[in-house]
Amino acid sequence: MELWYTEEHSPNCRFSLRVTRQLHSEKTPFQQLDIVATPEYGRVMLLDGLVMTTDRDEFVYHELITHVPLACLPEARRVLIIGGGDGGTAREACRYPRLETIDMVEIDGAVIEAARAWFPDICAGFADPRLNLTVGDGMEYVRKVAAPYDAIIVDSTDPVGPGEHLFNEAFYRDCYAALGEQGVLVSQGPTPIQPEFAGLLREQAEFIARTFDRLYLYLGHIPTYPTGTWCFLFAAKGGIEPLGSRTDAGWRTFGERLRYYNPGVHRGAFGLPNYVRRQLDGLIANDRLDIA
Ligand code: SAM
Repeated sequence: MELWYTEEHSPNCRFSLRVTRQLHSEKTPFQQLDIVATPEYGRVMLLDGLVMTTDRDEFVYHELITHVPLACLPEARRVLIIGGGDGGTAREACRYPRLETIDMVEIDGAVIEAARAWFPDICAGFADPRLNLTVGDGMEYVRKVAAPYDAIIVDSTDPVGPGEHLFNEAFYRDCYAALGEQGVLVSQGPTPIQPEFAGLLREQAEFIARTFDRLYLYLGHIPTYPTGTWCFLFAAKGGIEPLGSRTDAGWRTFGERLRYYNPGVHRGAFGLPNYVRRQLDGLIANDRLDIA
């Protein structure tokens, strides 16, 4: 008997993976959590039937969402990760010896336990003594932080389910307040190329553009996310520039161990296709960047 996993990207578009084994299935208090083994992408974590992370392409997303902001913050010592239960973003942040505090707030403890059980390479950062793992709602957490952060990375699920209220203006205002005088928030955003998602992206960009000093967008190619073209919103506070002259060489101490990120990828990610610039016209500042 053939087993296939299918994710519906729209009523007329589906993405399927052959499955060799169902490894885990659990209805948590927040979502349906499944882990399957696939010949094409290795182990795949699904939340409410949507691909979260896969053995084979997770490095693209986790390196992009982490190294782009941290490379712009050479003085950064304190980082907050909201969501990120699979551990990939924490693993990448833990590569920076200069970080003193890496706080991570994941609403669903079952995701953390499943990551420990089935994705030990992705959640390797969980063993780092600087990592403070809290099981809780990122929206509530960010309202009452003890000390300012240099970077906030919002690695949550899509704007449905527990992640829904992480896509609203009040949350971004609280994140702005939780950052120090100079800081960056990066949040993953939906694909710009599919109509069903494009409206969500513009709405998310409007919330952030109204809250932060400047908003930039960068793109990455993640084969197992809808259409493969994926967005990251780079929200700057206090004049931080994504291609600033003070980009930190700190990542060079481990650069060779990275599989995706490098300075060329960093710069190129902010070069946007015309359709994306038009879609987010008036909201993003990428045209101010010197991207030769
Ligand atoms: N890379 C994935 C993506 O692009 O969809 C995200 C992976 S990570 C598994 C997403 C995590 O966000 C999930 O573990 C989910 O439980 C968590 N999450 C959703 N809403 C949250 C909230 N309000 N506070 C904290 N974590 C949340």
